[in-house]
Amino acid sequence: MNIIEFSDKYKDEAACVADLKQRRDLQVKECPHCGCTEFYWKGDKAMYECKKCHYRMSFKKAASWKTATCL
Ligand SMILES: [Zn+2]
Repeated sequence: MNIIEFSDKYKDEAACVADLKQRRDLQVKECPHCGCTEFYWKGDKAMYECKKCHYRMSFKKAASWKTATCL
């Protein structure tokens, strides 16, 4: 992989994450651990963190995301 391919890939993944986050925000957000519905968005890790119990949830692993073609 050369630097151009790398930057192209990064750009695509970043765009993908941004798109997924936008769609994820429209889904029902409920902590599977405590049921809290408020989350912090951890942009650097592409994860949500529950405001109540600090449970971390990656939207990439959520069942509702299986149809995303870029994952
Ligand atoms: Zn929680």
